Amino acid sequence: MKKLVKGIVDFRNNVRPGVRETFAKLALGQSPDALFIGCSDSRVAVNVFASTDPGDLFVVRNVGNLVPPSGDGATSDHESEAAAIEFALEALKVSHIVVCGHSECGAMQALVKGRESLSSPNLKSWLQFGEVDLSKVKACPQVDTSLALHDQLSQFNVLNQLEHLKTYPLVRERLEKGELQLHAWWFELRQAEVYAFDKNQEKFTPFDEEIGQRILARLN
Ligand SMILES: [Zn+2]
Repeated sequence: MKKLVKGIVDFRNNVRPGVRETFAKLALGQSPDALFIGCSDSRVAVNVFASTDPGDLFVVRNVGNLVPPSGDGATSDHESEAAAIEFALEALKVSHIVVCGHSECGAMQALVKGRESLSSPNLKSWLQFGEVDLSKVKACPQVDTSLALHDQLSQFNVLNQLEHLKTYPLVRERLEKGELQLHAWWFELRQAEVYAFDKNQEKFTPFDEEIGQRILARLN
């Protein structure tokens, strides 16, 4: 917290003069073209690894980068994230949704151990949206099986959450019209390496120049 407080004073003194004009323009409205759904984990620093500026991304972060399925199709019991998805698609008209997982995720480690052992009732309930049969994870060809099991689950989870996104009628509609693309990313902490799920290779691949060009070529 001390760093946070000192950081704000430093921002006011040293950074603010250089960014005030940018924020004055952004005060008139935002037009990000992507919704980023990432884990709340303090180490998933998307502004750093994706070099984003204010106004670039509409962001939802929660424990485990989970997306509760849409339920009856019209509403969700988890309005917070459903509302963000609706707002991003209807008001901001984003054409991309990125779900980004990461290595050493505490949520994935808890799921490997079994969420029933958790004593926090809300966390125990929330993690149901990431719960899968671990034998499915181990047998999944799209996951790097050389990783620790919780990291395999983390990669599997990102793909699984994209399927949850498709339970939202609005998401399905935009996908069918070709107005929306879904992206699966994964951040490996030790090497500070971002991976993108490459549809050609059907696996998570380091986000290098080649992958970047391939993704750019597919963008709307
Ligand atoms: Zn996490």
